[in-house]
Amino acid sequence: MVPSPLSELLECAHVVSLALTTPFRGLTQREAIIFDSPRGPSEWSPFVEYDDAEAALWLASAIEDGWQDSTLPEPPASIRVNGTIPAVSPQEATTLITEAGFPHTVKVKVGGPTSSLDEDHARVQAVRAALGPAGRIRLDANGAWALDEAEHAIRLMEHCDIDYVEQPVESLADMAVLRTRMSEIGIGLAADESIRRWADLEEVIALGAADIVVIKVQPLGGLRRAHDTIKKAHAAGLQVVISSALETSVGIYHAATLQGFLESQSPHALDAGLGTVSFLSDDVVESPLRAHGGKLSVTKPRLDQGALTRLRAPKDREQWWRARLERCFALL
Ligand SMILES: [Mg+2]
Repeated sequence: MVPSPLSELLECAHVVSLALTTPFRGLTQREAIIFDSPRGPSEWSPFVEYDDAEAALWLASAIEDGWQDSTLPEPPASIRVNGTIPAVSPQEATTLITEAGFPHTVKVKVGGPTSSLDEDHARVQAVRAALGPAGRIRLDANGAWALDEAEHAIRLMEHCDIDYVEQPVESLADMAVLRTRMSEIGIGLAADESIRRWADLEEVIALGAADIVVIKVQPLGGLRRAHDTIKKAHAAGLQVVISSALETSVGIYHAATLQGFLESQSPHALDAGLGTVSFLSDDVVESPLRAHGGKLSVTKPRLDQGALTRLRAPKDREQWWRARLERCFALL
């Protein structure tokens, strides 16, 4: 699949670097290539530590968005999204929820290197108090806990009425054991880091390692492949949740297409993890896709030329990304 020559990609590529408002995965800057492509802007933003084979899947996604006809309808005017609470104090968590307009669903980061279990617990309790009994809470440990540690932590926070826990432990084998232990208290497990390719989903299904799978469009290689993955997950009785890979509004727009489609198919579609542009200090489009009150207004992205200039990456980073683009393109 080589829909466009490399020279065409290089010509319309803008390498940008955006400061994060809260450090994520140890990152303080988010780098990306934004293509000013024929079908509208598209984004290529594999994390810098990813190897070329993995980054090439993300590139297939950017090429599909920017050069190929969509297989899904245009997104609706708005989609449902969760709020996200990073590893902050209970007071800050309450402030963030207020500022976010009290979203119906909130994902709380737990198990991080900067936060103890007591601090996690206090943060989750503060979120429950702020949301009231009707709000939905999901936790995300990013694989940080060991098996027994995860069970202990989840039982400790069970009284806060948790829907599910995203990637409580790293390995799928541990996920499967923990899922059996958690089924008695009715808290589901979601696989996030474990699902990056089609084959990963087969393993999750075979091991019975999750109730929910987190679907990220770029890592899976684009909207078509993400949609195929969802169909396969649904056929196996799993639920899905669409999430971002910490993209600019360009990447978020394409993921919102998938969420809009799922919402049109079922009123029970889970709230998406796409309200993440607030973690970026700036954006590349004229109308950034910022969430409020659990809703994300979806506007077709129009590149802000001033922003592309303002956010242009330093020369050495630009050269690094262009060389990476050439290598990954050769792998498609
Ligand atoms: Mg996650």
